[in-house]
Amino acid sequence: MNFSDSIMDYREDILHALSELIAIKSVSCENESETERALDYVLNKARDMGFAVKKTGRVAGHAEYGSGEETAAVLAHVDVVPAGDGWSTDPFTLTEKNGRLYGRGVVDDKGPAIIALYCLKALKDSGIVPKRRIRVIFGAAEETGMNDMETYFSKEESPAMAFTPDSDYGICICEKGIMQLEISSARHDGTILTEFQSGGAVNAVPAKAYALVDCTESEDNRLRRFADAKPGEYDFIYTMDGLVIFAKGKAAHASVPEQGLNSAAHLIRILADNFGESVLGSLCGFIDNAIGMEKNGESLGIVCSDEKSGALTVNLGRVDIGENISRALIDIRYPVSADSDVIFEEIKKRAEAEGLQVKLINHEPPLSVESDCPIISILSDAYESVMGIKPELYSTGGGTYARTLSNRGVAFGPAFSGDETHIHDADEGINTENFWKHAQICFEAIKNMSE
Ligand SMILES: [Zn+2]
Repeated sequence: MNFSDSIMDYREDILHALSELIAIKSVSCENESETERALDYVLNKARDMGFAVKKTGRVAGHAEYGSGEETAAVLAHVDVVPAGDGWSTDPFTLTEKNGRLYGRGVVDDKGPAIIALYCLKALKDSGIVPKRRIRVIFGAAEETGMNDMETYFSKEESPAMAFTPDSDYGICICEKGIMQLEISSARHDGTILTEFQSGGAVNAVPAKAYALVDCTESEDNRLRRFADAKPGEYDFIYTMDGLVIFAKGKAAHASVPEQGLNSAAHLIRILADNFGESVLGSLCGFIDNAIGMEKNGESLGIVCSDEKSGALTVNLGRVDIGENISRALIDIRYPVSADSDVIFEEIKKRAEAEGLQVKLINHEPPLSVESDCPIISILSDAYESVMGIKPELYSTGGGTYARTLSNRGVAFGPAFSGDETHIHDADEGINTENFWKHAQICFEAIKNMSE
């Protein structure tokens, strides 16, 4: 029997606690009292287990076991993204069906949070006395910009080593930098386009776009023929105010824009091809010329890549045009070797030449951990002891708590390749066997960090 098998003794307890946590509708931002309730749930559970527990503000806290100079930590979050439509089970009920566990947060990240806490309990029950203080750090605002860890680390020390089970296996040693920008004009200066709206969160490819256009019937016919030949679906409806066009594309995460179909960019292209850019206004003109269908920033003059992190990506995440508004939000993921100031200045220069303003609304610097960093061998050994093979080291455009760890921590699990977990989507779920494999790897990793 492997050491890690003993975590399986806590199977029932883990599933019971996870079902209670999933039942708390701790949707990030939407309901702060519910995210705090989810945080209190795990902290109370930790207190009942006999751990030293500390809450930091209303958004974070930890459970601690052991003594020593250094701390080592597992970071997980208890807030979730909205359930959305299309579920085949109740999103807020943990459901086991066809060899899979379903529920909002079962993978991202309530399942890993509960598992980490029970691993700490199993470590304590096994009689191991850690050489470091081992913490499980919980956050309740990961999905809305991670200010929870900002609050936490303003009061608490940064761990000497850590991992966050909030991504994929193997070990993520590199996260691209994230920059989110607003490009706007003082007022909408288009003559034919009255309204345009597309997208919600800037970190997603918008699946739907809407435009209100003031045009004649012959222009309208040409537009329909144009749209027929383009990717995406288009609906045209005449109203008292003009022609309404609904465009449908495909959503995707901003870190992988090539997996989506950007409804806003496509609809703007159709309008520009048909009417010419000048009548759509300076913002639409800039979007079409400088971004268009590109995902690599070529026309923005910011193409770059490196071996460790891959290529820069650009996503047009949101467009709002109306009587008193004219703005677009874009999300850029840049490689670790790139200079964010140079990227920003380049975009600013081009936008200002068209009479537009550019504002930085969010910036998360990149993460890059050296492959000989101690945490890498600790996690690699843990993975190998359960899976029998060494984990791959990889890079992502996504963002996790790891980037708050001063290059001493990484994302590690819980999703295995080939297991479609549908995080941030309907039917979020994980293969039950993989769920328990993750528990074993997590337990090994915590034990390794304690030695
Ligand atoms: Zn997450």
